Amino acid sequence: MVFLLMLQIKNLSFGYTKKEVLSLLDFNVGIGENLAIIGESGSGKSTLLKLIYGEYDLEQGEIFWKDTKILGPKFNLVVGYDFMKYVSQEFDLMPYTSVEENIGKFLSRFYPEEKEKRTQELVKVVELEAFAKTKVKHLSGGQKQRVAIARALAKEPEILLLDEPFSHIDNFKKQSLRRSVFNYLKAQQITCIVASHDKNDVLGFADQMIVLHDKKIIAKDTPSHLYNHPESPLIASFFGEFSIIDDKIYYAHQLKIVEQSDFTATVKQSYFNGQNWLVEATFKNQTIFIEHSNSLESGIPVHLDIIK
Ligand code: ADP
Ligand code: MG
Repeated sequence: MVFLLMLQIKNLSFGYTKKEVLSLLDFNVGIGENLAIIGESGSGKSTLLKLIYGEYDLEQGEIFWKDTKILGPKFNLVVGYDFMKYVSQEFDLMPYTSVEENIGKFLSRFYPEEKEKRTQELVKVVELEAFAKTKVKHLSGGQKQRVAIARALAKEPEILLLDEPFSHIDNFKKQSLRRSVFNYLKAQQITCIVASHDKNDVLGFADQMIVLHDKKIIAKDTPSHLYNHPESPLIASFFGEFSIIDDKIYYAHQLKIVEQSDFTATVKQSYFNGQNWLVEATFKNQTIFIEHSNSLESGIPVHLDIIK
């Protein structure tokens, strides 16, 4: 897919103190594009979103949305722009008013019909129809997170920044909510940047993903490319259990137990993972992981084959 360049990050460096948190980042995001930012806790994902939102002054570099240069508080009295919305990890809502009122808060009351229609549309996007009239203070953390997403969408931003957007939402709801929100953003051609450490927020939704590590972008590519060609254990670990054999990375499903081979490992433990079992084994004093259809007894030898 080809996207028009809309968000441009040029040579961005930043630190809260003298110590840099992000160093010389360069990347672009297109209109309607879904970009995932992944990295370990503390790698600077939230910081990067806040910088794009204009919450801090850059130490070095520039950020542009179309022709508008994003300025920090030193140059901008009020943080934020109409074309951009940001849903932080600490969403702040109005606790004593209903879900509907929270979502509609920034919509013009001079057009009540339109306001009502738009509010109901967004209540549906975040699957909160049953709670539309409920006061926010009676909602769970995950439900509040959904209200925060709907509210950010209310005034049709051109770009949406989402920080761990589904982290408080239970697994019963998560997958359908992800589809609903991300499909809505695509349909509206709203650019979105999603910080996450959960592969399920990314696979199937992101057009591109950026991996942050040690202040830098260590990889930027499509989820399928990074999944199929993880250049480092850090990247592979985002997607699942893996083993390093002869300096190559193999996911658990790439190691197959066979009748006979020269590649022999000893089973340590088996873990049920739903579809299969994850077998932890020892090979040349190293721990390796194998996906298998059954649980295996600790201590038994297994022969393995590598599926490339
Ligand atoms: P992530 O979102 O990837 O977990 P953060 O952007 O929150 O990472 O944090 C990146 C680094 O910046 C961490 O070392 C964190 O301790 C530090 N940091 C985050 N916010 C602040 C702040 N307000 N003041 C000082 N240091 C901060
Ligand atoms: Mg964070």
